Amino acid sequence: MAELLASGGTVEMARAVLDSGADAVYVGAKGWSRRRAQYEMGDEEVIASARYAKSLGKVLRVAFNTLPASHEIPLLLAKAEKFVGAGVRDFILTDVGAMKALSERFPGVQIHASVGCTIVNAEDAWFYKEAGATQVVTECRVDREEMRKIRQEVGVGLEVLVHATTCFTYLGRCTMSSYTRQEWRFDDEGKNHFLGSPNRGGLCYRVCLTEWDQRRGDGSLEAGGLVLPNLAYFLVDDIPDLLDLGVDTIKIQGREYSIPLVGRMVRFYRDLIDSYLRDRSSFRMEAWKERMAGIITERDAERREKTAGLISESGLSA
Ligand code: SF4
Repeated sequence: MAELLASGGTVEMARAVLDSGADAVYVGAKGWSRRRAQYEMGDEEVIASARYAKSLGKVLRVAFNTLPASHEIPLLLAKAEKFVGAGVRDFILTDVGAMKALSERFPGVQIHASVGCTIVNAEDAWFYKEAGATQVVTECRVDREEMRKIRQEVGVGLEVLVHATTCFTYLGRCTMSSYTRQEWRFDDEGKNHFLGSPNRGGLCYRVCLTEWDQRRGDGSLEAGGLVLPNLAYFLVDDIPDLLDLGVDTIKIQGREYSIPLVGRMVRFYRDLIDSYLRDRSSFRMEAWKERMAGIITERDAERREKTAGLISESGLSA
């Protein structure tokens, strides 16, 4: 049966998503995931949350989904060793070198190649499988035929994001934010914490969502007030097909939202999945879409507020 995976930005959120019906929760190790420190966890918090997940027969997955420098690989392995020693067996990575190093150091751990790997075809999936990935997250624009091919030909787990926001570029490939404001500091372990670069473990200021001018080569204005596409997507309609296809994990994002809202999101997807699996032939989507509309309204309101704050932090005007 497909696993429902949701985000745990704090210890409280991790508990809430597991209590609301998620089979697994992913958390960011501080400085090593694509969110600001406020939505990441210190080592002891990761370990406490992993124990809680285990007590329920569920899974905690640690995100190390940044692009580390060479000197950071040993730091990543040392942190992973601490988590593996505490019983964590599941990780999310983007960097292929780090993936290979982790799988060789800790044989048997589960490694999910994150959406930031931009896996769009079976050859990509083969590449990450050979680097140690046991499951791949397909890029959010990949269609079901491509997913079927990956699943049948590559023999690797398949994970699909059904509730997330796309980026102007492929997810994980944007560097715009780091051009507006970038700061960094080294922690006691020697890890560089970047602000302004989500790819290096800091936060993104969502500068794509401010208004931009497009200028000609001579500097004259061609178009003003342009906002780059960065759209939320909810593949609610696709969930029955994804379950029929046999996807291994259905993932929903949401570390930045309030805990009650994240809890409601998880409960919605849990109920929908269970309802479909209970009786596929009489399942009807209409009522679920109505229920989802309320969640989307709440989610959009929280996101707008967060986005305005981030753009203002970047130094650009919202
Ligand atoms: S600036 Fe926009 S497109 Fe770039 S990473 Fe941030 S949200 Fe995505």
